Amino acid sequence: MSYGPQIREQVSLKDLNTMAIAVKAEQFVDIENADQLVQALDIAREQQVETLVLGGGSNLVFAGNFEGLVLHIAIRGRRWEQVTDDTAVLALAAGENWHDAVLYAARSGYRGIENLALIPGTAGAAPVQNIGAYGVELCDTLESVTALDWDSRHVVTLSAEHCQFAYRDSFFKRNPGRYIILEIRLRLSRTAPLKLGYRDLQDYLSDADAEKLSPLDVAEAVMAVRRRKLPDPETLPNTGSFFKNPVIDQAQFEQLQKCFPDVVFYPLTDGVKLAAAWLIDQAGWKGFRNARVGIHNRQALVLINHSQGTGQDVLALAEDVRESVREKFGVELEVEPGIVGAR
Ligand SMILES: Cc1cc2nc3c(=O)[nH]c(=O)nc-3n(C[C@H](O)[C@H](O)[C@H](O)COP(=O)(O)OP(=O)(O)OC[C@H]3O[C@@H](n4cnc5c(N)ncnc54)[C@H](O)[C@@H]3O)c2cc1C
Repeated sequence: MSYGPQIREQVSLKDLNTMAIAVKAEQFVDIENADQLVQALDIAREQQVETLVLGGGSNLVFAGNFEGLVLHIAIRGRRWEQVTDDTAVLALAAGENWHDAVLYAARSGYRGIENLALIPGTAGAAPVQNIGAYGVELCDTLESVTALDWDSRHVVTLSAEHCQFAYRDSFFKRNPGRYIILEIRLRLSRTAPLKLGYRDLQDYLSDADAEKLSPLDVAEAVMAVRRRKLPDPETLPNTGSFFKNPVIDQAQFEQLQKCFPDVVFYPLTDGVKLAAAWLIDQAGWKGFRNARVGIHNRQALVLINHSQGTGQDVLALAEDVRESVREKFGVELEVEPGIVGAR
């Protein structure tokens, strides 16, 4: 039996965003199945209020209260499908915790997502920015996404191709509100080679016999490396990388490299990707803090809410960082998390 959505009013979102920004949602509903989602969307349409789809709140910055209806995706469930000797499809409902799913797959002996351990948030949000870490992206294993198409009001299944994945980007990110993801399906393998090429991971596992490593060993190594480098939002509220690594063309890169021979970069087939953390560090921001917000002292890409910072405090600091990087290097930094709420 499916119950209708229970809409609550003036709900605090402080514990529902990893930046711990103390804002409220005018209306809030936990969504536990597709029927509740359709009903809640109907109510929002009838009342002509804006909606926000919220997973774990680890890639959002609330600039102010949300004057509309927050749809908190709490749809749970996971199952294996199409199991063969080698591969299987892991289907995850949108509200499943991503990191728990990684450990579940790794403990079951399946490879493909172990490098994405400890990324906060839900399975349903993972395709939105095509989560990636340590040389692996979600799109490497994603088989399909089941979503509610808000244009047609039908539940549709989208192939990976339809999702138009790119670096920290997808159709969903470019077209917010069109699809609400209900389930993702990942094709995992028992025998695919483990991806150990990323330098930090290689260093951490240098004493290990690569042939004997299990996906769980790799997930645990990734967790250890991440814990050394990245602050835990439970103790230092943050949204992970605040800026994307900027991509510039070859001509601009050559100019930049003349002035800054140490610039950290990754060559691409079309252009050059710069390490945003290096740019921010060189602009003197690493470890900066004011009364409420700051930049992490070990990872310049991470903005921290030290003490009751507001979204405005965070965004003002981000703007100062962008401006000084622009002035020093002539490079534009793009903010990675979505910004929502009244400004
Ligand atoms: C400490 C830390 C480390 C991180 N490390 C990484 C990393 O290594 N790599 C990486 O890629 N990211 C990283 N992130 C960013 C973040 O964890 C991911 O983007 C994650 O997928 C966000 O999930 P969420 O459920 O918290 O999404 P939310 O923040 O709740 O939402 C993010 C966006 O997705 C939309 N959305 C959420 N659920 C759905 C749904 N079911 N259907 C449609 N749209 C939806 C929201 O409307 C919003 O636009 C990190 C964040 C933190 C705090």
